[in-house]
Amino acid sequence: MSGESETSTRICDYPGCNKPGKFRAPKAPDVLDDFYWFCQTHVREYNLKWNFFDGTTEAEMNAQRSKDKVWERETKPMGDPEARAWARLGIEDPHQILGANGTRNPGRAEAGGRKLPPTEKRAIDILEAKADWTKSEVRKAYKSLIKVLHPDMNGGDRSQEEQLQEVVWAWDQIKASRNFKD
Ligand SMILES: [Zn+2]
Repeated sequence: MSGESETSTRICDYPGCNKPGKFRAPKAPDVLDDFYWFCQTHVREYNLKWNFFDGTTEAEMNAQRSKDKVWERETKPMGDPEARAWARLGIEDPHQILGANGTRNPGRAEAGGRKLPPTEKRAIDILEAKADWTKSEVRKAYKSLIKVLHPDMNGGDRSQEEQLQEVVWAWDQIKASRNFKD
């Protein structure tokens, strides 16, 4: 899905990332001649999102979306900071393959029918957990993410450090929260 360009002087298209954008990725499954340029970390992340929708037609995705009320509700507003950042860059996202809605199952944070403060909602999303989980269930999710992301666990590869920090931050929020049972 991606190739490296040696002459590129681009900056990574990911909002807030200033690393060189050396890796290209098609903008949409059916647009193969128009690319985003990302650093290694973000092209990886992007490709994960791409793979998630690979082989799914837009019609199928729309059908899926209207079936799923939670998804529908979450995709309407551009309230998510990451989505807004993409919008500021003028990047349209008809397939929802970018931004927080891409990898994270939208609406998960409300799965328990519970209203959480925005930071805790975000933390739950980051940890790929659910709002009605207990702390120990969330901790399990946290530990398995750490295992995947930690440099010591994957041969000193530090490229996922930002994501790791995010995950650690997220667990701190849940750990300190009174909204989750132990
Ligand atoms: Zn980047």
